[in-house]
Amino acid sequence: MANNKRDYYEVLGIERTASSEEIKKAYRKLAREYHPDFNKDDPHAEEKFKEINEAYEVLSDPQKRERYDYLGHKADYGGAGADDGFSGFGAFESIFEDFFGGLGGFGRRRPSGPERGEDLRYDLEITLEDAFHGGTKEIRVPRSETCPECHGSGARPGTRPETCAACGGSGQQQITHDTPFGRMVNVQTCLHCSGKGTVVKEPCPACRGQGRVIRERAFEVKIPPGIAHGTRLRIQGGGEAGLRGGPPGDLFVVVAIRPHKLFRREKDDLIYELPLQMALAALGTEVEVPTLDGKAVMKIPEGTQPGTVFRLRGKGMPRLYGRGKGDLRVKVNVVIPKRLTAREKELLTELAQLNAANEKEKGFIGRMKDAFGGH
Ligand SMILES: [Zn+2]
Ligand SMILES: [Zn+2]
Repeated sequence: MANNKRDYYEVLGIERTASSEEIKKAYRKLAREYHPDFNKDDPHAEEKFKEINEAYEVLSDPQKRERYDYLGHKADYGGAGADDGFSGFGAFESIFEDFFGGLGGFGRRRPSGPERGEDLRYDLEITLEDAFHGGTKEIRVPRSETCPECHGSGARPGTRPETCAACGGSGQQQITHDTPFGRMVNVQTCLHCSGKGTVVKEPCPACRGQGRVIRERAFEVKIPPGIAHGTRLRIQGGGEAGLRGGPPGDLFVVVAIRPHKLFRREKDDLIYELPLQMALAALGTEVEVPTLDGKAVMKIPEGTQPGTVFRLRGKGMPRLYGRGKGDLRVKVNVVIPKRLTAREKELLTELAQLNAANEKEKGFIGRMKDAFGGH
Protein backbone atom coordinates (compact mmCIF):
# COMPACT_ATOMS: atom_id res chain seq x y z
CA MET A 1 0.00 0.00 0.00
CA ALA A 2 2.80 2.35 0.88
CA ASN A 3 4.93 2.56 -2.20
CA ASN A 4 2.64 3.24 -5.11
CA LYS A 5 1.06 6.29 -3.54
CA ARG A 6 1.74 9.71 -4.93
CA ASP A 7 3.32 12.29 -2.73
CA TYR A 8 0.62 14.30 -0.96
CA TYR A 9 2.24 17.63 -1.83
CA GLU A 10 2.36 16.58 -5.45
CA VAL A 11 -1.31 15.54 -5.32
CA LEU A 12 -2.30 19.01 -4.16
CA GLY A 13 0.27 20.72 -6.41
CA ILE A 14 1.90 22.70 -3.62
CA GLU A 15 5.34 23.28 -2.16
CA ARG A 16 6.53 21.44 0.94
CA THR A 17 6.68 24.81 2.66
CA ALA A 18 3.05 25.67 1.87
CA SER A 19 1.12 27.43 4.61
CA SER A 20 -2.13 26.02 5.90
CA GLU A 21 -3.97 28.75 3.95
CA GLU A 22 -2.27 27.67 0.72
CA ILE A 23 -3.11 24.04 1.40
CA LYS A 24 -6.76 24.90 1.93
CA LYS A 25 -6.89 26.97 -1.26
CA ALA A 26 -5.28 24.27 -3.37
CA TYR A 27 -7.63 21.67 -1.94
CA ARG A 28 -10.79 23.70 -2.59
CA LYS A 29 -9.82 24.32 -6.17
CA LEU A 30 -9.00 20.66 -6.89
CA ALA A 31 -11.96 19.28 -4.99
CA ARG A 32 -14.30 21.39 -7.11
CA GLU A 33 -12.51 20.36 -10.28
CA TYR A 34 -12.63 16.63 -9.59
CA HIS A 35 -15.86 16.28 -7.66
CA PRO A 36 -17.50 13.09 -8.99
CA ASP A 37 -20.87 14.86 -9.36
CA PHE A 38 -19.41 17.22 -11.96
CA ASN A 39 -17.34 14.56 -13.69
CA LYS A 40 -19.79 11.81 -14.49
CA ASP A 41 -17.98 11.06 -17.77
CA ASP A 42 -14.54 10.73 -16.29
CA PRO A 43 -14.05 7.29 -14.72
CA HIS A 44 -10.88 8.44 -12.93
CA ALA A 45 -12.43 11.46 -11.28
CA GLU A 46 -13.65 9.60 -8.26
CA GLU A 47 -10.27 8.04 -7.61
CA LYS A 48 -8.59 11.39 -8.04
CA PHE A 49 -11.10 13.00 -5.71
CA LYS A 50 -10.36 10.39 -3.06
CA GLU A 51 -6.64 10.96 -3.45
CA ILE A 52 -7.10 14.72 -3.05
CA ASN A 53 -9.18 14.25 0.06
CA GLU A 54 -6.69 11.88 1.60
CA ALA A 55 -3.82 14.28 0.92
CA TYR A 56 -5.78 17.14 2.41
CA GLU A 57 -6.78 15.15 5.47
CA VAL A 58 -3.14 14.57 6.32
CA LEU A 59 -1.61 17.88 5.28
CA SER A 60 -4.31 20.03 6.90
CA ASP A 61 -3.67 18.46 10.29
CA PRO A 62 -0.41 19.86 11.68
CA GLN A 63 0.38 16.71 13.63
CA LYS A 64 -0.31 14.35 10.75
CA ARG A 65 1.58 16.63 8.40
CA GLU A 66 4.61 16.58 10.64
CA ARG A 67 4.53 12.76 10.74
CA TYR A 68 4.11 12.61 7.00
CA ASP A 69 7.05 14.95 6.42
CA TYR A 70 9.17 12.72 8.55
CA LEU A 71 7.98 9.25 7.58
CA GLY A 72 6.14 9.69 4.31
CA HIS A 73 3.58 7.05 3.45
CA LYS A 74 5.11 4.66 5.96
CA ALA A 75 3.20 6.37 8.72
CA ASP A 76 -0.25 5.07 9.53
CA TYR A 77 -2.89 7.75 9.69
CA GLY A 78 -5.66 5.45 10.84
CA GLY A 79 -8.62 4.58 8.69
CA ALA A 80 -6.51 2.05 6.83
CA GLY A 81 -7.73 -1.49 6.24
CA ALA A 82 -7.30 -4.21 8.80
CA ASP A 83 -4.10 -5.44 7.21
CA ASP A 84 -2.32 -2.14 7.26
CA GLY A 85 -2.63 -1.40 10.91
CA PHE A 86 0.48 -3.20 12.05
CA SER A 87 2.96 -0.58 11.02
CA GLY A 88 3.63 -0.23 14.72
CA PHE A 89 2.26 3.01 15.97
CA GLY A 90 4.04 2.57 19.25
CA ALA A 91 7.44 2.23 17.63
CA PHE A 92 6.75 5.15 15.39
CA GLU A 93 5.77 7.42 18.25
CA SER A 94 9.03 6.76 19.94
CA ILE A 95 11.12 7.48 16.85
CA PHE A 96 9.21 10.66 16.52
CA GLU A 97 9.73 11.66 20.09
CA ASP A 98 13.40 10.81 20.04
CA PHE A 99 13.78 12.99 17.04
CA PHE A 100 11.82 16.02 18.12
CA GLY A 101 12.06 15.59 21.85
CA GLY A 102 15.83 15.69 21.73
CA LEU A 103 16.01 18.91 19.84
CA GLY A 104 14.35 20.97 22.54
CA GLY A 105 12.39 24.03 21.48
CA PHE A 106 12.12 22.69 17.95
CA GLY A 107 9.36 20.23 18.65
CA ARG A 108 5.78 21.36 18.78
CA ARG A 109 5.25 18.50 21.18
CA ARG A 110 3.71 19.45 24.46
CA PRO A 111 5.44 17.54 27.25
CA SER A 112 2.23 16.81 29.05
CA GLY A 113 -0.03 16.51 26.02
CA PRO A 114 -2.29 13.56 25.35
CA GLU A 115 -0.69 10.46 23.91
CA ARG A 116 -2.39 7.64 22.06
CA GLY A 117 -2.30 4.22 23.73
CA GLU A 118 -0.35 1.37 22.22
CA ASP A 119 -1.82 -1.24 19.92
CA LEU A 120 -2.27 -4.75 21.22
CA ARG A 121 -2.17 -8.12 19.50
CA TYR A 122 -4.21 -11.14 20.47
CA ASP A 123 -3.72 -14.54 18.84
CA LEU A 124 -6.97 -16.40 18.42
CA GLU A 125 -7.01 -20.03 17.39
CA ILE A 126 -10.17 -21.36 15.78
CA THR A 127 -11.20 -24.62 14.10
CA LEU A 128 -11.85 -25.07 10.42
CA GLU A 129 -15.50 -25.58 11.37
CA ASP A 130 -15.52 -22.12 13.01
CA ALA A 131 -14.04 -20.64 9.85
CA PHE A 132 -16.68 -22.45 7.81
CA HIS A 133 -19.71 -21.34 9.79
CA GLY A 134 -18.49 -17.95 11.02
CA GLY A 135 -19.93 -16.48 14.22
CA THR A 136 -18.64 -14.67 17.26
CA LYS A 137 -15.97 -15.62 19.77
CA GLU A 138 -15.49 -14.04 23.13
CA ILE A 139 -11.92 -13.25 24.06
CA ARG A 140 -10.55 -11.85 27.29
CA VAL A 141 -7.67 -9.47 26.94
CA PRO A 142 -5.68 -7.97 29.78
CA ARG A 143 -4.93 -4.38 28.87
CA SER A 144 -4.20 -1.13 30.57
CA GLU A 145 -7.06 1.25 31.13
CA THR A 146 -7.28 4.76 32.46
CA CYS A 147 -7.37 4.51 36.25
CA PRO A 148 -10.98 5.05 37.33
CA GLU A 149 -9.89 6.53 40.70
CA CYS A 150 -7.67 9.38 39.50
CA HIS A 151 -8.95 9.49 35.89
CA GLY A 152 -5.43 9.04 34.65
CA SER A 153 -3.71 11.86 36.51
CA GLY A 154 -1.83 9.49 38.82
CA ALA A 155 -2.49 11.81 41.77
CA ARG A 156 -4.43 10.73 44.87
CA PRO A 157 -8.08 11.68 44.40
CA GLY A 158 -8.57 15.20 45.78
CA THR A 159 -5.02 16.24 44.88
CA ARG A 160 -3.54 17.26 41.54
CA PRO A 161 -0.20 16.71 39.85
CA GLU A 162 1.96 19.78 40.36
CA THR A 163 4.04 21.62 37.84
CA CYS A 164 7.59 20.30 37.95
CA ALA A 165 9.78 22.81 39.74
CA ALA A 166 12.95 21.59 38.05
CA CYS A 167 11.84 22.40 34.51
CA GLY A 168 8.97 24.75 35.12
CA GLY A 169 6.61 22.37 33.32
CA SER A 170 8.43 22.29 29.99
CA GLY A 171 9.69 18.76 30.50
CA GLN A 172 13.18 19.82 29.41
CA GLN A 173 16.25 21.07 31.18
CA GLN A 174 19.04 23.18 29.82
CA ILE A 175 22.47 22.26 31.01
CA THR A 176 25.24 24.77 30.47
CA HIS A 177 28.90 23.79 30.29
CA ASP A 178 31.84 26.13 29.98
CA THR A 179 34.34 24.62 27.58
CA PRO A 180 37.55 25.93 26.03
CA PHE A 181 35.50 26.67 22.93
CA GLY A 182 32.93 28.69 24.72
CA ARG A 183 29.67 28.08 26.48
CA MET A 184 27.69 25.04 25.34
CA VAL A 185 24.02 24.57 26.08
CA ASN A 186 22.55 21.09 26.07
CA VAL A 187 18.87 20.48 26.20
CA GLN A 188 17.74 17.21 27.71
CA THR A 189 14.62 15.58 29.00
CA CYS A 190 13.97 16.69 32.56
CA LEU A 191 15.22 13.99 34.89
CA HIS A 192 12.96 15.06 37.69
CA CYS A 193 9.66 14.51 35.86
CA SER A 194 10.88 12.28 32.96
CA GLY A 195 9.68 14.92 30.53
CA LYS A 196 6.09 14.96 31.71
CA GLY A 197 6.32 18.51 33.06
CA THR A 198 4.39 17.56 36.19
CA VAL A 199 5.13 15.62 39.33
CA VAL A 200 2.76 13.71 41.54
CA LYS A 201 3.33 14.46 45.23
CA GLU A 202 0.77 12.00 46.55
CA PRO A 203 0.37 9.07 44.18
CA CYS A 204 -3.06 7.55 43.61
CA PRO A 205 -3.18 4.29 45.61
CA ALA A 206 -5.24 2.44 42.99
CA CYS A 207 -2.63 2.78 40.21
CA ARG A 208 0.43 3.68 42.28
CA GLY A 209 0.71 6.95 40.40
CA GLN A 210 0.79 5.33 36.95
CA GLY A 211 -2.57 6.72 35.85
CA ARG A 212 -3.33 3.36 34.26
CA VAL A 213 -4.41 0.01 35.68
CA ILE A 214 -4.44 -3.46 34.12
CA ARG A 215 -7.92 -4.86 33.56
CA GLU A 216 -9.12 -7.94 31.78
CA ARG A 217 -11.69 -6.96 29.20
CA ALA A 218 -14.02 -9.18 27.20
CA PHE A 219 -14.42 -8.52 23.49
CA GLU A 220 -16.69 -10.16 20.98
CA VAL A 221 -14.80 -11.03 17.85
CA LYS A 222 -16.89 -11.45 14.72
CA ILE A 223 -15.61 -14.27 12.53
CA PRO A 224 -16.86 -13.90 8.96
CA PRO A 225 -17.60 -17.24 7.23
CA GLY A 226 -14.68 -18.18 5.00
CA ILE A 227 -12.06 -16.28 7.01
CA ALA A 228 -8.48 -17.08 5.98
CA HIS A 229 -5.68 -18.27 8.24
CA GLY A 230 -3.61 -15.32 9.44
CA THR A 231 -6.31 -12.68 9.01
CA ARG A 232 -5.95 -9.65 11.27
CA LEU A 233 -9.16 -8.23 12.62
CA ARG A 234 -9.00 -4.74 14.04
CA ILE A 235 -11.02 -3.73 17.08
CA GLN A 236 -10.82 0.00 17.23
CA GLY A 237 -10.03 1.37 20.66
CA GLY A 238 -9.40 -2.11 22.08
CA GLY A 239 -5.73 -1.46 22.80
CA GLU A 240 -3.94 0.15 25.72
CA ALA A 241 -5.36 3.27 27.32
CA GLY A 242 -3.97 6.56 26.10
CA LEU A 243 -1.97 8.84 28.36
CA ARG A 244 -3.22 12.18 29.68
CA GLY A 245 -6.55 11.92 27.92
CA GLY A 246 -5.17 10.49 24.67
CA PRO A 247 -7.27 7.95 22.75
CA PRO A 248 -6.71 4.23 23.30
CA GLY A 249 -4.77 2.15 20.77
CA ASP A 250 -6.37 -0.60 18.72
CA LEU A 251 -6.59 -4.31 19.35
CA PHE A 252 -5.57 -6.60 16.52
CA VAL A 253 -6.89 -10.13 16.65
CA VAL A 254 -4.75 -12.47 14.56
CA VAL A 255 -6.77 -15.53 13.59
CA ALA A 256 -5.04 -18.89 13.20
CA ILE A 257 -6.96 -21.90 11.91
CA ARG A 258 -5.98 -25.19 13.50
CA PRO A 259 -5.06 -28.00 11.08
CA HIS A 260 -8.01 -30.33 10.48
CA LYS A 261 -7.76 -34.09 10.71
CA LEU A 262 -9.72 -34.76 7.51
CA PHE A 263 -9.39 -31.70 5.30
CA ARG A 264 -6.65 -29.57 3.88
CA ARG A 265 -7.61 -26.11 2.68
CA GLU A 266 -6.49 -24.42 -0.49
CA LYS A 267 -8.11 -20.97 -0.68
CA ASP A 268 -11.84 -21.73 -0.91
CA ASP A 269 -11.38 -25.40 -1.78
CA LEU A 270 -11.11 -28.27 0.63
CA ILE A 271 -9.09 -31.36 -0.16
CA TYR A 272 -10.01 -34.76 1.19
CA GLU A 273 -8.06 -37.96 0.64
CA LEU A 274 -10.43 -40.87 0.17
CA PRO A 275 -9.03 -44.29 1.03
CA LEU A 276 -10.52 -46.74 -1.49
CA GLN A 277 -10.09 -50.49 -1.66
CA MET A 278 -8.28 -51.70 -4.73
CA ALA A 279 -11.19 -53.89 -5.85
CA LEU A 280 -13.72 -51.04 -5.51
CA ALA A 281 -11.49 -48.68 -7.52
CA ALA A 282 -11.47 -51.27 -10.29
CA LEU A 283 -15.18 -52.14 -10.12
CA GLY A 284 -16.55 -48.68 -9.40
CA THR A 285 -18.81 -47.91 -6.45
CA GLU A 286 -20.73 -45.29 -4.56
CA VAL A 287 -19.13 -43.82 -1.43
CA GLU A 288 -20.00 -41.42 1.33
CA VAL A 289 -17.52 -38.61 1.89
CA PRO A 290 -17.46 -36.24 4.85
CA THR A 291 -17.92 -32.50 4.31
CA LEU A 292 -17.88 -29.65 6.84
CA ASP A 293 -21.63 -29.60 6.49
CA GLY A 294 -22.64 -33.24 6.88
CA LYS A 295 -22.03 -35.99 4.36
CA ALA A 296 -22.11 -36.22 0.58
CA VAL A 297 -22.57 -39.26 -1.64
CA MET A 298 -20.44 -39.60 -4.74
CA LYS A 299 -19.99 -42.11 -7.55
CA ILE A 300 -16.62 -43.69 -8.20
CA PRO A 301 -16.58 -44.89 -11.80
CA GLU A 302 -15.19 -48.24 -12.91
CA GLY A 303 -11.43 -48.28 -13.43
CA THR A 304 -10.61 -45.27 -11.23
CA GLN A 305 -6.85 -44.77 -11.03
CA PRO A 306 -4.90 -43.94 -7.84
CA GLY A 307 -4.53 -40.18 -7.40
CA THR A 308 -7.63 -39.29 -9.43
CA VAL A 309 -9.26 -36.12 -8.10
CA PHE A 310 -13.02 -35.65 -8.19
CA ARG A 311 -14.59 -32.28 -7.58
CA LEU A 312 -17.75 -31.85 -5.54
CA ARG A 313 -18.95 -28.38 -6.49
CA GLY A 314 -19.97 -26.04 -3.70
CA LYS A 315 -18.88 -28.36 -0.90
CA GLY A 316 -15.82 -26.30 0.06
CA MET A 317 -15.37 -23.16 2.16
CA PRO A 318 -17.70 -20.16 1.88
CA ARG A 319 -16.21 -17.38 -0.19
CA LEU A 320 -15.30 -14.54 2.13
CA TYR A 321 -17.67 -11.62 1.60
CA GLY A 322 -18.73 -13.29 -1.65
CA ARG A 323 -21.35 -15.64 -2.87
CA GLY A 324 -21.33 -19.41 -2.89
CA LYS A 325 -18.66 -21.83 -1.80
CA GLY A 326 -15.50 -23.40 -3.14
CA ASP A 327 -15.28 -27.09 -4.04
CA LEU A 328 -14.44 -30.23 -2.18
CA ARG A 329 -11.68 -32.02 -4.08
CA VAL A 330 -11.69 -35.73 -3.36
CA LYS A 331 -8.39 -37.40 -4.09
CA VAL A 332 -8.56 -41.18 -4.46
CA ASN A 333 -6.02 -43.04 -2.43
CA VAL A 334 -6.14 -46.69 -3.55
CA VAL A 335 -5.41 -48.98 -0.64
CA ILE A 336 -3.41 -52.13 -1.36
CA PRO A 337 -4.05 -54.70 1.38
CA LYS A 338 -0.99 -55.48 3.51
CA ARG A 339 -2.31 -58.74 4.86
CA LEU A 340 -4.61 -61.15 3.09
CA THR A 341 -6.86 -63.87 4.44
CA ALA A 342 -6.53 -67.30 2.82
CA ARG A 343 -9.67 -66.71 0.77
CA GLU A 344 -8.51 -63.26 -0.43
CA LYS A 345 -5.19 -64.76 -1.41
CA GLU A 346 -6.95 -67.48 -3.36
CA LEU A 347 -9.09 -64.96 -5.25
CA LEU A 348 -6.21 -62.62 -6.02
CA THR A 349 -4.03 -65.48 -7.15
CA GLU A 350 -6.77 -66.59 -9.50
CA LEU A 351 -7.07 -63.00 -10.77
CA ALA A 352 -3.32 -62.78 -11.32
CA GLN A 353 -3.31 -66.03 -13.29
CA LEU A 354 -6.21 -64.85 -15.39
CA ASN A 355 -4.42 -61.57 -16.12
CA ALA A 356 -1.25 -63.45 -17.11
CA ALA A 357 -3.19 -65.73 -19.44
CA ASN A 358 -4.87 -62.72 -21.09
CA GLU A 359 -1.51 -61.03 -21.62
CA LYS A 360 -0.09 -64.11 -23.24
CA GLU A 361 -3.03 -64.43 -25.57
CA LYS A 362 -2.75 -60.80 -26.65
CA GLY A 363 0.92 -61.29 -27.29
CA PHE A 364 3.51 -58.70 -28.02
CA ILE A 365 1.55 -56.81 -30.72
CA GLY A 366 -1.46 -56.47 -28.44
CA ARG A 367 0.66 -55.05 -25.65
CA MET A 368 2.13 -52.51 -28.03
CA LYS A 369 -1.35 -51.50 -29.13
CA ASP A 370 -2.36 -51.13 -25.50
CA ALA A 371 0.63 -48.96 -24.78
CA PHE A 372 -0.30 -46.61 -27.62
CA GLY A 373 -3.94 -46.56 -26.69
CA GLY A 374 -5.22 -48.57 -29.69
CA HIS A 375 -7.44 -51.67 -29.71
ZN1 LIG B 1 -5.03 6.22 39.78
ZN1 LIG C 1 10.51 18.45 35.04
